[in-house]
Amino acid sequence: MADTNRLTRRAFLVGAAASGALVAAGCSSDGGGGESSGATTTTATTLPVPDLPGDPFTLGVASGDPLSDRVVLWTRLAPEPLHARGGMPRGLDVPVRWEVQTLAGREPVADGVTVAPADHGHTVHLDVDGLDPDTAYRYRFSVGEYRTRWARTRTLPAAGTTPDEFVLAQVSCSQYDGARFAAYRDVAEHEPDLVVHLGDYIYEHPGGGLRPGVVTAIELDDYRTQYALYRTDPNLRAAHAVAPWIITWDDHEVSNNYVGSTPDPDSESPDEAALLERRAAAYRAWWENQPVRLDPPDGPDLEIHRRFAIGDLAALHVLDTRQYRTALDCERASGISAGRRCATSTADATTVLGDEQEAWLAEGLAEPAAWHVLAQQIVVHQWRFGPGDDAVWNLDQWDGYPTARSRLFDSLKEADGAPVVLTGDVHTSWAAELLEDFDDPDSDRVGVELVAPGVASSGAALAAVEAVLRANNPHIVYDEVGHRGWVRNTITADEWTAEFRLVEDHTDADSPVTTDATVVARPDGSLTLA
Ligand code: FE
Ligand code: CA
Repeated sequence: MADTNRLTRRAFLVGAAASGALVAAGCSSDGGGGESSGATTTTATTLPVPDLPGDPFTLGVASGDPLSDRVVLWTRLAPEPLHARGGMPRGLDVPVRWEVQTLAGREPVADGVTVAPADHGHTVHLDVDGLDPDTAYRYRFSVGEYRTRWARTRTLPAAGTTPDEFVLAQVSCSQYDGARFAAYRDVAEHEPDLVVHLGDYIYEHPGGGLRPGVVTAIELDDYRTQYALYRTDPNLRAAHAVAPWIITWDDHEVSNNYVGSTPDPDSESPDEAALLERRAAAYRAWWENQPVRLDPPDGPDLEIHRRFAIGDLAALHVLDTRQYRTALDCERASGISAGRRCATSTADATTVLGDEQEAWLAEGLAEPAAWHVLAQQIVVHQWRFGPGDDAVWNLDQWDGYPTARSRLFDSLKEADGAPVVLTGDVHTSWAAELLEDFDDPDSDRVGVELVAPGVASSGAALAAVEAVLRANNPHIVYDEVGHRGWVRNTITADEWTAEFRLVEDHTDADSPVTTDATVVARPDGSLTLA
């Protein structure tokens, strides 16, 4: 009896949530509750199912942005994934049936019909709510005779509770033609509680040379095809099908080394206007193809920084270090990130996060949590290549922005909990203590940083400088520059254990993936090799 009431209440809440999500997404169809929201609208349940040239679920499913009571379920209809519109009929919205069950016991929780709008590239973003905290579910979609396999997702622990242990997979830089996706296969096999992708999920152009098919993306349809190509990889689809993902972006979701509205001079975008047009297409395709709880962008701006609470165990601050960053005008050789700092590097107005995001982060850090996790892109700890202030720095990292980094560290010092920065971008593995003054080993520790290797992108360029960096930067606890992989983070209230999982042979999707090193962070800011 109690169970029946529960189910009824949930089904109602979920129906309401589905409507809300679609209204928020600017879609005129409701979530399948059977009630039309107005005379001019069409309900999802009465939309006709078109004839399709084949199984529309070639790109799999995904879930993301979990909260303690809800999660976004995603799919995209594309019977011919690499053709125009994924092989879908032009301009036709398509009804998609969905089901959610508990993973344990397989009890039905909710179902309904939603819409894959043509205007959204036939993607579905369904925000299912009324779920229990810290609970695993399974879900699937169907259209006509075609049905996906069951995929797994889970909600986050509720506020006021602390899970014994939470496993967070940290991934970044997954260039399709840079490697086979053995690292994603390993993520899937580990079935983490959450996957956090730190950016460079796609690359806008070919580069790695290992697999054919990568287009150079400039227009919306190019970026849509790029995401489709990536999702044709079974190991990427498998990693999406085992856990919810929380995703941010870096530069390659748009264009290599773009900063704010400034294109890299070596990129395909000749000027600011061209870059902003490209950014609008790229941000739109990112929104369409990722399981995010955001309204779709219409133009070159999309605010994606957002916060998640893993109960009282961790606050996860998801950052965007690209969109609001000041472009430095320091001199450097073409195609090289290294250069000397200039007046812009240290100017008060120079920013990495932008004023609004910077203030938002400081406010969030002041709230209590055992761990404060920054999910962001570029390396925070200092990479000193040589002595003196006149040294050469990597200007694309936080090293190019020392004044902005000091403000970040001021916020970390005020954090009510232990800061852990999760970083990607450099395609190599690093673990480091964050010091208030990196040139004074006795200065205060403000947190630790874990830099993930690329899932697939090559870090070979850093092999030449690894020894120099190790010699000049005693705050570095661990480094490895020869392998792809990911970081398996096991979080408890007293200990943060990071296993660097490295791929033996990046050209082989079935390659062994093994733990190269395990580092342990503690709430006092210490970081040690286990
Ligand atoms: Fe990258
Ligand atoms: Ca990058």
